[in-house]
Amino acid sequence: MRTMRKIRFQFIRALLLLSTTACAGEDSAKAKYVFLFVGDGMGSAQVALAEAYKASLEGDSVGFVPTSFSRFPVRADVTTHCAVRRTTESAAAGTAIASGSKAGEAAIGVDVSGKTLRTLAEEARDAGVPVGILTTVPVNHATPAAFYAHVPNRNDYWEIGRQLADSRMSLFAGGDFQEPKGKKGQDKEDSRVLAARKGYKIVRGRDSIAANTTLPAILLGLDPDDAALPWEMDSSDARTPVLADYVAAAIRLLDSPKGFFVMAEAGKIDWAGHANDARANIDEVWGLDSAVKVALEFAAKHPKQTLIVVTADHETGGLSLGSGATGYKTDFGLLRHQKSSRDRLEDLLAPIAASVETAKTAGDTAKVVSQVFARIATETGLGRVPELALAATDSVEILESLRARWGTARAAAKSGYGATGSPAATAIRILNRKAGVGWTTGAHTAIPVPLYAMGVGQEKFAGRLDNTDIPWLVRELAAWRKMRCSP
Ligand SMILES: [Zn+2]
Repeated sequence: MRTMRKIRFQFIRALLLLSTTACAGEDSAKAKYVFLFVGDGMGSAQVALAEAYKASLEGDSVGFVPTSFSRFPVRADVTTHCAVRRTTESAAAGTAIASGSKAGEAAIGVDVSGKTLRTLAEEARDAGVPVGILTTVPVNHATPAAFYAHVPNRNDYWEIGRQLADSRMSLFAGGDFQEPKGKKGQDKEDSRVLAARKGYKIVRGRDSIAANTTLPAILLGLDPDDAALPWEMDSSDARTPVLADYVAAAIRLLDSPKGFFVMAEAGKIDWAGHANDARANIDEVWGLDSAVKVALEFAAKHPKQTLIVVTADHETGGLSLGSGATGYKTDFGLLRHQKSSRDRLEDLLAPIAASVETAKTAGDTAKVVSQVFARIATETGLGRVPELALAATDSVEILESLRARWGTARAAAKSGYGATGSPAATAIRILNRKAGVGWTTGAHTAIPVPLYAMGVGQEKFAGRLDNTDIPWLVRELAAWRKMRCSP
């Protein structure tokens, strides 16, 4: 039985397709300024954990400190399945959110038949509305790419980068380009050189970004070899931009008589989910909140012309607040003792563990072991903080992860760390467990994700949505749709 809502959407879709001639709904309020925030991998649990953690830091061990977007007047649950699987990934989900059609796994901007799908960003661009596509991960990664590129495979980074340079969008921002010279062994023209030749100004670092007045532009992190911005929790260099800086720059550069469309992705929530790293996840969610607050400040000055939507493309990690390990007890505040993301802890522990290669005696080996435990204690609090005392079983787990490495230490040293069994992964797993955080997977899940809306037409987003509904609602509300039909 087709739901009333589905019928309504198909009707709106038909209307909007007709809108070039009929200018439907001309009289209703239209959004001149549209912000679409995507927390990659951000389920409701990720938001709630960030809120509970903040409450714990403020001494409230039972409550939640809401994010700015949790206070939005309108909330919805969004199904995220792609055309071929209930559990999606960022390319197919991004395509659905950007274009309004389901796509196959890993597809960007094309449907299952390979047909190109027009996106919200392209429509805004062609209506003469400035567009900003911002992220904390590579500018040619799945989610940002879904708004400007059309390729059957999300891993074709160089081609996506080439399409970015040809996209005629006003503004991009991210860590950097992934594979700017193509796959290993390829030596294609550098994507940044390509983009510069198409007129894009490449701007790096917080200060230059704040001073930049040029469009079109691509705003990037400090380190050209790091395709993503640093983890919020690891980032100590004040010169490093964060998502909030990108949103502020977009507002400053893109404001125009026709308004603007901004898509801003907090991409590393997903990466923290894959790593089952709750603390890194929490700080990325608060990084998103800071970016949304910049948009809220702008909306406060343009309340009748602005729409802000915050949602996710899928949930990552099967996160739960509470786990079998601690029963009804949770103590998320314990995560404050974690000083480095799991990523950085991997980098800190790898050389220590690898030094076993030079261990000649049992004494040498014991020294390596104690150095590993000492580093884990410094970086996570495990075995250092009274509430994080290591049980014998915990120590054995870490030793096991080391022993597993000893066999392959040489290989590991050469090919790098990161497997779920690494000492770093094990330490973070033990810390999460003691805090009462549960993870069911290192992959994505099919749990419907939250959507928060505020501003022009906010009420249209209430209730139950499918991810393909989101762009059709934005199309219904976007002033630039109207602009297209005025004589
Ligand atoms: Zn993911």
